[in-house]
Amino acid sequence: MREELAACLADGERRLRSGEPAVDVVEAVVRRLEAHPLFNAGLGAVLTSSGDVELDASIMDGRDRAAGAVGGLRGFLHPISVARRVMDQGDHVLLVGEGAAAFARACGFEATPDRALVTDARRRQLERARERARIQRDHDDVAEPAPSRGTVGAVARDCDGHLAAATSTGGLANQRPGRVGDSAVIGAGTWADDATCAVSTTGHGEAFIRAAVAHEVDAALRRSGCDLETAAREALRRAADCGGTGGLIAVDAAGRIAMPLTAPGMFRGSITSDAVARVCVFGDE
Ligand code: ASP
Repeated sequence: MREELAACLADGERRLRSGEPAVDVVEAVVRRLEAHPLFNAGLGAVLTSSGDVELDASIMDGRDRAAGAVGGLRGFLHPISVARRVMDQGDHVLLVGEGAAAFARACGFEATPDRALVTDARRRQLERARERARIQRDHDDVAEPAPSRGTVGAVARDCDGHLAAATSTGGLANQRPGRVGDSAVIGAGTWADDATCAVSTTGHGEAFIRAAVAHEVDAALRRSGCDLETAAREALRRAADCGGTGGLIAVDAAGRIAMPLTAPGMFRGSITSDAVARVCVFGDE
């Protein structure tokens, strides 16, 4: 897992160094993680209580705060690219369910049969969650030999100082069919504004929506002028007030990085323009 994150960071840094815009880089990194069976996104995403894969994703470009998102998307490996197309097409910000799938088909995205996205590890996880009558988050128990470690996201600041954020997930194991979480909600799971910061979150989606976590970081920077780490921790505290733990990754307009968490662990990493990389799991790392 750490190796894959390190490889993602190196790939993102190489793309940024070659001049790719931040929004292209966060999409590319999230696509890579969606194709990896160990994360809760695309291939290997968690299963709903009916055993299906329903994917949420969102992307935002800090240059003009353009945004696109999909919720409850079925039958596509790369929901982040469908969200990107929603953003680029420009009529809407959020498409859900069959409407999102019809949009993806109309855009020429190749459909992937649901069963091709489901891993055995996720089937076993759903069985365990059903037995315990629990709606299960990947990050809740880092000690458990869970098949995967969560929602994926990326934030970036490019050579021209532009910011972008992207987030993708299968949601919560054993969630009710039709449930859409924060990862599809601009302002909760994803936010980017060149003036302030880019943020991608993971956590209990209901609490993160109620606390508008990603936008809360932006609001704190604009209104109170505090630093990114303080703004990020305060946003997570507001989610905790709503009963939800989790974490976020963020970069600000000056390139400072914050990756705080209130959950037991979160696989996360960062890399700077001088190629100094950091990959960690637990809160005190
Ligand atoms: N935030 C995601 C959701 O609630 C789950 C997660 O990040 O683990 O759908």
